[in-house]
Amino acid sequence: MKKLKCGFCGTIDSKENPVIAGDSACICKSCVNAAYDIMEDNNDVVDKNDTHKEKEQEIVLKTPKELKIILDDYVIGQDRAKKVLCVAVYNHYKRIFKYKPSDDEIEINKSNVLLIGPTGSGKTLLVQTIAKYLDVPLAIADATSLTEAGYVGDDVENVITRLVQAANGNINKAQRGIIFIDEIDKIARMSENRSITRDVSGEGVQQAMLKIIEGASVNVPPNGGRKHPGQEALQVDTSNILFICGGAFDGIEEIIQKKLGSNVLGFNQEKRSKTDTKNILHDVEAHDLIKYGLIPELIGRLHMITTLNEISENDMIHILSEPKNALTKQYIKLFEIDNVLLKFNKTALKEIAKRAIERKTGARGLRSILEDIMLDIMFDLPNYKDKVITITKEIVLKEEKVKIA
Ligand code: ADP
Repeated sequence: MKKLKCGFCGTIDSKENPVIAGDSACICKSCVNAAYDIMEDNNDVVDKNDTHKEKEQEIVLKTPKELKIILDDYVIGQDRAKKVLCVAVYNHYKRIFKYKPSDDEIEINKSNVLLIGPTGSGKTLLVQTIAKYLDVPLAIADATSLTEAGYVGDDVENVITRLVQAANGNINKAQRGIIFIDEIDKIARMSENRSITRDVSGEGVQQAMLKIIEGASVNVPPNGGRKHPGQEALQVDTSNILFICGGAFDGIEEIIQKKLGSNVLGFNQEKRSKTDTKNILHDVEAHDLIKYGLIPELIGRLHMITTLNEISENDMIHILSEPKNALTKQYIKLFEIDNVLLKFNKTALKEIAKRAIERKTGARGLRSILEDIMLDIMFDLPNYKDKVITITKEIVLKEEKVKIA
């Protein structure tokens, strides 16, 4: 039988690229996709030129307070960081949508954010929640996987490609998106203050990041992935992309402590070092970060710096049960589907929280601890139809088996 042939590019029908036939023409999957992209781009142009003004009026920005209420539903504690993030996001989108450059020559600069806090304290969760709520594309990258262009690894520019992908190829949308670069502390250049040896290329990566944070025109391949010669690149302007960086900055307390020590002479210094070591991170300033090994130009672009607290045992208990999609709520839902009523005792939650603290991975550890506890129960779950299961401290400690009521 004669195989179908695409009337646009001449490709023969295949499993990888099927060709469909109409009454008088045939088209392959690649050409359908290409046509779709072209139409989407045209829509963007129309948006930009004809209906932009209309759209501007439609946009109702959520106030920082309204944004924080959303974050409170999903993230426990971290009040200061929430406030900083909400104000930064509000200002950012106000600058994009409401600000009109006028004759007074006052230019509003972009305000990027730096979140400093231990691992598993909610940095990524904050950013994910706000991006989801605002319906803006988000790309998350790990600074340690980034390299200067030309080295093996993820080029800094590839992060932009990922943002375009998150925006389903819509360049306009991507240009107003958020990029979260985690573990930025791991690309600090070596400083004489610290003994940790690190990759000297850290500074190069910081320089490359600086370029896109400042606002640059970046060429990205149309379908993501690596650039190929001959492939027409898409241009993305990064000047309205909000950059949020995160990092634990282990050991920075020493730098802050030294600074405070030299400011506060005498007995105060000792008093402070004993009582406030936990909160000392809140005193972090730009030059502490420079001492840590971030380049001043990059710090200069991260105007809003805020810290997150380490998750306490009490916070862990709240995290387990309070957020809208808290882990225990998810299990309760899962069990409900099998007509089983699941309950967690307070003492059980406390024991799980305690174990998570021991793991030192913040709230991130909670899921695997719970998975481990629930595995055997879930294995037999279909047998427990119409029953009640209560998770007790003894079950968590594996001292007792589950009792079915
Ligand atoms: P990191 O600070 O390392 O970016 P994440 O935000 O990725 O930490 O946190 C890992 C997981 O731990 C989250 O997906 C969430 O389930 C939980 N978590 C961490 N901090 C909080 C918090 N403050 N409130 C609610 N859940 C949290």
